[in-house]
This record gives sequence, structure tokens and C-alpha cells, in this order.
Amino acid sequence: MITGSGSGKIKSEIKTEIECPNCKEKGYLELIISRWHFHVFWIPVFPFWKYGKGKCNFCNFKFLGKDKKISDEIKYELSVMKSKAKGPIWQFSGLFIGVFLLIMLFTLRGEFKDEYANYIENPKVGDVYNYRKENLKYSTIKVMEIRKDTLVVKYNLFSVEDIFDMDDITDDINYSFDNYIMTHKEIRQLFQENVIYAVDRNNFIKSEKEPIEYEKEN
Ligand SMILES: [Zn+2]
Repeated sequence: MITGSGSGKIKSEIKTEIECPNCKEKGYLELIISRWHFHVFWIPVFPFWKYGKGKCNFCNFKFLGKDKKISDEIKYELSVMKSKAKGPIWQFSGLFIGVFLLIMLFTLRGEFKDEYANYIENPKVGDVYNYRKENLKYSTIKVMEIRKDTLVVKYNLFSVEDIFDMDDITDDINYSFDNYIMTHKEIRQLFQENVIYAVDRNNFIKSEKEPIEYEKEN
């Protein structure tokens, strides 16, 4: 089960002065406050309501506080315990983990985005732009030369369906033989529209080939 619910004991007291509702022995009655929680992958996420129950450690009789047969004295003791019981913090652990991961994710995403924006503004030969295609696939564009208002690029002839498979297709041999011209403005716009979602720099370190030199524009 990925999700489910369970309960955890949050408070327990032996009430020596109260007799067992079943065997009437004194000194063995344990009153317990438990709390239900919802869990995802066995990690408790949301603590829910608290409820009282009890058991006799002499005759092993178990009961719930809401049971009609249970005396007002026991009900009262349970209500007092319930109001004082805060419950263990672990019932919130999933919530804390989730919030922490979300904060991490957004911080990282923000930092990457800033770095990518910087790469877009100051392109270098060898930069690889990761972009989303219209058919829900992903591919890359490689910067071959930088001119005043334009970039000379090669298109990757391959694409992947899973964003994490990108490394499989970024070999130099996968790029178009022909060169294409894109304006800085065009690139910037694609980045702002999140079509270009990442920029890889230093990719040329992996490649043994030197970038091809092109004649400069007049
Ligand atoms: Zn008993």
C-alpha cells in the first residue's frame, strides 16, 4: 500500500486508582490516547483526530473510550489526557520532508534559471540549448559561432521523449551537417517562453573535436 492510515499512541498512563470495567481489579488499568494519521509510502503526513482507549493489564480486556459501557470516571480521565496530549512530531514528518523538498526544488530551479539566463545573454561557442519540441519531445541546439546579432547553430537530428535521456543524443555526430542562423532575440524569446529550458556549457570538454571556424560576417 502506498497510502493509508494508521494510528499512533501519543500518551499512556496506568490509572492505579480506577478499577477494570471487566475484572474489577485495581492497579492494572492503562488509559491510552492515540491519534490517526494518513501516510504516504509509510511516511506519516497528516495527523487527524485523537481518541481514547484503554486496556486492563491483568485480564487483558480492551475497550474504546467512546464505548457506552465505559464509566464516566474513565471517560473523564481520558478527556483530561486527550486535552493534554500533543502527540509525537513524527506524525508530521512527511509534511516536513515534503515542504523541505519543495523549498530545495524551487531554490535550485531559481539558481539554475539565473545561470541559464546568464548563458543566454552571454553565449559561448559549444553551448547546448535543451529545448522542448512541439511533439512533446526534447532535443538540443548547439552554438557553433557567435556573431553580432546572430548565432550560427546546428540542430540535433534526434530527440528524446524523456527529458532525462538527453545525454543519449548529445554526441556531435547527431547534429545537422548544415548550419542555421538564429538571432539573439529569437534565442532570448525561446528561453523566456521556456521552450529552451536549460543550457549546457562545457560540453566541448567532452568532445575531442574543435569547434569549426566560420567566416566572420562583414
Ligand atoms: Zn481487568
